[in-house]
Amino acid sequence: NQTTPKPHVAFLSSPGMGHITPLFELAIRLVTQHDFQVSFLVITTAFTPAQSEYLNANPHPDLHIVDLPPVDMSGLVSDDMELGTRLSLIVQESIRPFRSILSELKGPKLRALVIDIFCTGVFEICNELAIPVYSFFTASGVLFTLSLYLPSMDREVEGDQYVETVKVPGCNPIRIQDLQEPVWNRNSDDYKWYLFHCRRLFMATGIFINTWEDLEPVSLKAVKHEPFFLNIPTPPVHPIGPLVKQIEPAVMVKYEKEMIAWLDKQPKDSVLYVSFGSGGTLTREQLTELAWGLELSRQRFIMVVRKPSDYAAATFFNVGSESDDPRTYLPDGFIERTKGVGLVVSSWAPQVAVLNHPSTGAFLSHCGWNSTLESLKHGVPMIGWPMYAEQRMNATMLSNEVGVAVKMHVVGDKGETVVARREEIKRVVQMVMEGEEGKKMRSRAKELEASSRTTLSRGGTSYETLARVAESWKLG
Ligand code: UDP
Repeated sequence: NQTTPKPHVAFLSSPGMGHITPLFELAIRLVTQHDFQVSFLVITTAFTPAQSEYLNANPHPDLHIVDLPPVDMSGLVSDDMELGTRLSLIVQESIRPFRSILSELKGPKLRALVIDIFCTGVFEICNELAIPVYSFFTASGVLFTLSLYLPSMDREVEGDQYVETVKVPGCNPIRIQDLQEPVWNRNSDDYKWYLFHCRRLFMATGIFINTWEDLEPVSLKAVKHEPFFLNIPTPPVHPIGPLVKQIEPAVMVKYEKEMIAWLDKQPKDSVLYVSFGSGGTLTREQLTELAWGLELSRQRFIMVVRKPSDYAAATFFNVGSESDDPRTYLPDGFIERTKGVGLVVSSWAPQVAVLNHPSTGAFLSHCGWNSTLESLKHGVPMIGWPMYAEQRMNATMLSNEVGVAVKMHVVGDKGETVVARREEIKRVVQMVMEGEEGKKMRSRAKELEASSRTTLSRGGTSYETLARVAESWKLG
């Protein structure tokens, strides 16, 4: 019927490509596969070419990008704040006019609002307006189960810091070193904010997670069988992953062409792709060691580099906006000596296009969840080099449980960041690119690639799970 408007759903994502990407990919699916119209609300904090290019790369008449009115955050956030605190404050300020923002949306009444973990401040308003809120937990199942358990753990454990191995019911134990410092330090603002959001997860009508059974069987089984929160049942959990970026923004076409042309000339599985996500930035000392390690390994590589910083997530809020000459911070002569063998890209690469290329043989990654899913969806094994957020847990899970990664030694026994030295980098890179261990990891990654395709196809678990929720929204 031409005159009946399509059912309408809105999305609200906190800033950062790692959050926006999975929510946007879900929005695209609702529009293209399930016949919805979507208003995608965007919080803009700074000049972020990578973000706006991505959002505008895929225009669709039923997918409307709505920029929230910009807020003045000066005096409220500072560069030395922990990431979670900063995100929470930005969202808190940006959603002050949320009621009027929702009322001004074009289209019929919303069937649902989909948010990420940092946007839990909208529950009350949506309750009043009778709009069901779904949370899309965009990180791993391991962090998800820990997050469900955190409110109980916080009540049961005493002291300023967590010091013991964390035992989430039904899950594998998490070493304390694998928690980021702000999470185990209970007095930190980051901890308090994260706990606040975890408690509020239980207010959601349903929770999507970006994973699937074959990748994280333990976490998904635990979600089904364990009562995490003492008296409140967990909302229905819907695993719909892996939802990853499918296309690269147009701005990337120039680089993409160059890189793909270069990759086309390399043998199959011979190139190591090195990138630390949207925010990941190495110290000067570590970048020097990494460059030397790559050179000594004599393997082919593509490396995304950024101006060194002591802050690991330095470019999280403005990725793609910095342009500088890598020669000023890479070892003298590095680019010349590795010419033909290596390709250095400043700031941002068309990651999915690189991972999708048959010449790409492994991914040295910070193990952000999107990067992880993108790697596995394309059958590429990983070298785990965690930096911030829940990346350490991811790296451990990928190496110890899934068997698709080997971890670089960058975390010390006390949880401190350790500088990986060039000889060690050379050894690990060679092992993954040429050794038996690398072969095993590659074949495991190929299995997961096949399984990810099945789960996302009609009849597959992730596809059908989303289809069921979409149907319920249509009826609702
Ligand atoms: N990304 C990219 N090019 C880069 C670096 C990152 O396209 O040079 C994309 C990557 O494909 C992924 C996202 O940025 O979709 C990073 O998300 P992830 O969860 O891996 O890490 P975060 O940036 O949140 O730490």
